[in-house]
Amino acid sequence: MARLVMKFGGTSVADLTRIRNVARHVKREVEAGHEVAVVVSAMAGTTNQLVNWTREAAALHDAREYDTVVAAGEQVTVGLLAIVLQDMGVPARSWLGWQIPIRTDSSHAAARIADVDRTILEERFREGQVAVIAGFQGLAPDNRIATLGRGGSDTSAVAVAAAFNADRCDIYTDVDGVYTTDPRIVPRARRIPKIAYEEMLEMASLGAKVLQTRSVELAMVHNVPLCVRSSFDDPDDTPAMGAEGNRLVGTLVCDEDQIVEQNVVSGIAFSKDEAKITLRRVADKPGVAASVFGPLASANINVDMIVQNISEDGRFTDMTFTVPVADYDRAVSVIEAEKDKIGYDAVSGSTDIVKVSVIGVGMRSHAGVAAKLFKGMAERGINIVAITTSEIKVSILIDAAYTELAVRTLHSLYGLDEE
Ligand code: ASP
Ligand code: MG
Repeated sequence: MARLVMKFGGTSVADLTRIRNVARHVKREVEAGHEVAVVVSAMAGTTNQLVNWTREAAALHDAREYDTVVAAGEQVTVGLLAIVLQDMGVPARSWLGWQIPIRTDSSHAAARIADVDRTILEERFREGQVAVIAGFQGLAPDNRIATLGRGGSDTSAVAVAAAFNADRCDIYTDVDGVYTTDPRIVPRARRIPKIAYEEMLEMASLGAKVLQTRSVELAMVHNVPLCVRSSFDDPDDTPAMGAEGNRLVGTLVCDEDQIVEQNVVSGIAFSKDEAKITLRRVADKPGVAASVFGPLASANINVDMIVQNISEDGRFTDMTFTVPVADYDRAVSVIEAEKDKIGYDAVSGSTDIVKVSVIGVGMRSHAGVAAKLFKGMAERGINIVAITTSEIKVSILIDAAYTELAVRTLHSLYGLDEE
């Protein structure tokens, strides 16, 4: 017998037919003898609708009331799933965040989970009752409902799995796993059978939108194995946990030690969410970087890549950096307002750029990954504007028009194409 947390996203519970399908997945695991907790999102589209209503009600509004409104979607789906499970003869009951309680910090609308109380649910587990838990919500210290930020029910599921020492947390979604890159760009992208937490963190933060980044961090800290899999699989033709044998479904996100055959590169991610800003003829002297990046930090703008050219005459240099697209206009205004203090000739920028990243824990022990990338881009005539590297990642900034060409080239270059 194992303990399993099963999480179902918005598209998986979008209507009653799908909720019945979800219930059959749950029933399969219960009948295999497992203790099961289920975490669900709101029906697809519901949370967006609720968010829009709060905005229409008043552009500036109380975050506590926002939370009261947007947490409502999950209340509907937990209740419906519990009803359907009971109707199928599976003992179940719904739980809202405050009833358990799942305690959060006080950052309404972007709360973090502080603690999951185990008392009541442990008792119900022993009685064989399935707990159907509302994702995305908890109870803040002010005794009011708090939500975890968009996509937060992934994090709810991992927090529940960590609190109850679950053997696995299955994230059922509308794709059948994590792919080496976006299959819409590279049709020969492959499903990755196993991926390390750290790699998944990079993939998630770079726009592979399968899991909320925070949920991967939490899973890594508590060593909760995550299985990303499709809720559209036929529940009766899918093996229960423990009976999978070689039929491993989905993608297992786990500790890197559990991955025997590790590729040097596991995936290629890209993000169009970047903008670049260039300052021409900045004085090449101590304190200049501080005068540029200090004010940006004070304005709460995250700078990602930074390139400073070597100056030809030892007096002036050019500096390029990237910021999130959403902050581009604000960043340019900040730089313009500081023009006298920084001292530069001109500021220019572009939002037509993309960051492409090659990710793999195998890079730690293999040289030449970056060299291969540069050669590949050179052969295709793709100009690299900026580069950053970490132990398990090399990222380049290029013109957005070359996104597909660059991603496809790298995907085959690192041997990721489906045979
Ligand atoms: N329903 C919430 C949202 O749409 C939480 C989630 O789906 O994870 O953001
Ligand atoms: Mg989601």
